[in-house]
Amino acid sequence: MQLLPEFSLRHPETLAEAARLLKDSDARILAGGTGLIANVRQGLAAPAVLVSLERVPGFRDIVEEGEAVRFGAGVTLARLIGDARVAERFPALAEAAVTIAGPSHRSVATLGGNLCLDTRCVFYNQNEVWRRSNGYCLKYRGDICHVAPQGKQCHAAYSGDLAPVLFVMQAELEVVGPGGARRMPIAALYREDGAQHLTLERGELVAAVRVPLPAAGMRFGYRKARARGAIDFPLAGVAVALQTEQGRVRALRVALTGTNACPLLLKGTDEFQGQALDSALLEKLKKLVQKQVSPQRTTVTASNYRRQVAAALSARLAKELAA
Ligand SMILES: Cc1cc2nc3c(=O)[nH]c(=O)nc-3n(C[C@H](O)[C@H](O)[C@H](O)COP(=O)(O)OP(=O)(O)OC[C@H]3O[C@@H](n4cnc5c(N)ncnc54)[C@H](O)[C@@H]3O)c2cc1C
Ligand code: SF4
Repeated sequence: MQLLPEFSLRHPETLAEAARLLKDSDARILAGGTGLIANVRQGLAAPAVLVSLERVPGFRDIVEEGEAVRFGAGVTLARLIGDARVAERFPALAEAAVTIAGPSHRSVATLGGNLCLDTRCVFYNQNEVWRRSNGYCLKYRGDICHVAPQGKQCHAAYSGDLAPVLFVMQAELEVVGPGGARRMPIAALYREDGAQHLTLERGELVAAVRVPLPAAGMRFGYRKARARGAIDFPLAGVAVALQTEQGRVRALRVALTGTNACPLLLKGTDEFQGQALDSALLEKLKKLVQKQVSPQRTTVTASNYRRQVAAALSARLAKELAA
């Protein structure tokens, strides 16, 4: 860990003002700081300006709006875990939040910070001396990737736990920038590039997440595999949304984290509609997962293990939700 570099801390009172600050200076949003400050201390970022949104009205609110619930991006993970409405309507969100970091992190860490968390790699999440002695890497300050030296793409893994749950819940984001506000499906926030996995334009920020109320009979869950039993990022994390009728699939959505440079919504699950949710279907589901995830050598755990564990968790969770 290094000493923190000099920076100034700004407290805009509106999102428009925050967007201007982000556009006009070398600035980053500071939410709970549990991801960002760790990176700054390791010399992975040195923003001259940190922009806190805590004075922006509504940034920490949870509000029911017709057929959806709007979560301000500043809602903390502890609040997601403790809120009675979340427990009743979106228990999988709390289920994922409680697996993130430790209790003191969760008391300040936010929904927006989790969605916009930087990608991770064993060659990147190291101190400055370690990285310098390895010639850095192309995600930051270097020009080769130690994971896939022949290519010019960074494969650092997106490892936030909330995104896959919000993918299968078909959440939308409210994004605010210098040009105003826009809404987009959560999947549009990401691209498969570990060096630049967010699609936000300069000056844009995530203001809120809108989660539609679930259809009757739809069940959701989240499971993750990690090296330690607590305070650890997912080697693979899986969210499933499942609706069945008389043992047959009406709707099945699966999303994953920890395996790719961005969260992944599994393709091909529509084909299971109308089929019995039996062991043959679960085997097919595992094959889909194995085919679509692409874990690389970005953790100390073997890539193939992460592929197998992602498939096994998906099938197990689907079976559990069907029971
Ligand atoms: C020991 C430890 C263990 C951890 N384990 C996990 C884990 O198991 N799972 C997991 O998912 N995470 C884990 N984390 C990472 C982190 O704690 C969480 O992801 C947390 O939710 C990040 O939220 P934050 O509010 O602290 O974000 P910050 O650190 O404040 O911000 C993270 C990034 O998002 C940007 N940002 C923040 N808010 C917005 C916004 N509204 N719009 C646009 N950009 C924004 C920031 O500029 C920064 O780049 C761990 C961290 C530590 C230190
Ligand atoms: S995947 Fe390659 S470029 Fe990306 S952080 Fe790891 S070593 Fe660096």
